[in-house]
Amino acid sequence: MRLVFLGPPGSGKGTQAKILAEKMNLKHISTGDVLRNAVKNGTELGNKAKQFMDAGDLVPDNVILGMIKEILQKDRDGFIFDGFPRTAAQAEGLGTLMEEIGIGIDSAINLAVNDQEVMKRLTGRFFCQKCGTDFNVNTRPPKVEGICDKCGGNLGQRDDDKTEVISNRLNVYREKTKPVEDYYRSHNLLKDIDGTQSFEQVTDSILEVVS
Ligand code: AMP
Repeated sequence: MRLVFLGPPGSGKGTQAKILAEKMNLKHISTGDVLRNAVKNGTELGNKAKQFMDAGDLVPDNVILGMIKEILQKDRDGFIFDGFPRTAAQAEGLGTLMEEIGIGIDSAINLAVNDQEVMKRLTGRFFCQKCGTDFNVNTRPPKVEGICDKCGGNLGQRDDDKTEVISNRLNVYREKTKPVEDYYRSHNLLKDIDGTQSFEQVTDSILEVVS
């Protein structure tokens, strides 16, 4: 099965995509993670992407589609794309790339969460700088403030989870990514899910629509 997960930043799509990928034995492909790794390793892709990511802007479509083309050469059988496509041009580009190799998307899962909730979730989001475990001061707080429950490492915030960058990411989402919903709706592939339900309910709702 091949799925794409859509939704605003902070809608929980990353966490849900990871869980669903494990349950359904699919590869979880987060373009944000691929890009962050590229930046960390100082690769050519990372150098092209860094300035856009730091500002909360989208990395240009041609850079992203080049990266996806490479990914599809290795992982074409079963995957969840998380954070991609982010523009109508990316959705169309993905359609073309997949058509070329004779495959297609089965469903586009759209996690709906309002702006107020998104802001609360994102400003509360922290991660362990040593082992990468996620925490949220509102929903999943660490036992000791600023310290990872698992390994004792220090907790930090993603640079693009700072309030001023979040507002820009939400604007970018509304302007550029909303049309992706229309693209998949017009192809009868869009499945709307209420992302404000409990964590477990969201997982169950997604499983229900894809099985
Ligand atoms: P994410 O972890 O999905 O929120 O992505 C973090 C950042 O990586 C975004 O704010 C963008 O700058 C960049 N990014 C990730 N995926 C894409 C994409 N499909 N198109 C353009 N930029 C992306």
